[in-house]
Amino acid sequence: MPGWCGVTVLRFENVRKVFGPHVVLDDVSLDVPAHSVTVLIGASGSGKSTLLRCANLLETVDDGAIFLSGREITDPRVNVDEVRQKIGVVFQAYNLFPHLSVLDNITLAPRRVHGVARREAEDRALALLDRLGLRGKAADYPDRLSGGQQQRVAIVRALATDPTLLLLDEITAALDPELVGEVLNVVASLKDDGMTMVIATHEMGFAREVADQVCFLADGRVLERGSSTQLFGEPQEERTQQFLRRVS
Ligand code: ADP
Ligand code: MG
Repeated sequence: MPGWCGVTVLRFENVRKVFGPHVVLDDVSLDVPAHSVTVLIGASGSGKSTLLRCANLLETVDDGAIFLSGREITDPRVNVDEVRQKIGVVFQAYNLFPHLSVLDNITLAPRRVHGVARREAEDRALALLDRLGLRGKAADYPDRLSGGQQQRVAIVRALATDPTLLLLDEITAALDPELVGEVLNVVASLKDDGMTMVIATHEMGFAREVADQVCFLADGRVLERGSSTQLFGEPQEERTQQFLRRVS
């Protein structure tokens, strides 16, 4: 792993989440080391999105704790905006604001929520756009861009606050097949840069390629966890084997 230094960026400790009678996360413990990529796989409804939403404090946990860089973020006294500044998130639907230019979409949160000066926010946004192959798109409105470009802008927006961690939830699921590659290439290049990421995906080929650690979730539990080679090459659990046979 490039830049590996053994530090845990994100830790789930015995996390439990229920919706009414439904246990959605059941005693989930997981460490995400710095500069590593953790991929969450599992059937629809297995709890991948909920796990990511708990990490970004979009859901509260019912038991257990989550730590970011050693600090408990599930502590009710925590400053939610401050935590979210350190965690970039990209979801399936691009969620760009249609009435704002690409540049304004990207600089909105740094300026409004985190008090960064316009010039500084724009300089950073333009540098990121350049790096993700979107030079010249800054003044465009989202509806002028392809789905793949919009999703890359969403990634730039997630990077705009210089986060410690990036959470990506099925970010290619809504894209036409021919646009998936350009988005996955961006993710691969962020990995090369040493970005710490947790990725929920149905793209098994990509998962296999990019993951340092793979977690197979079933019914809200981490049923099996291992390196990409272990989990895809020699899955131990019957249910993991069944899942991989079904999706490949
Ligand atoms: P995945 O991302 O793996 O498809 P989710 O985390 O979205 O799984 O969902 C896990 C389970 O939690 C599903 O059974 C889903 O219906 C349920 N769930 C998710 N969000 C809510 C909610 N806000 N209210 C009630 N049930 C929910
Ligand atoms: Mg999901």
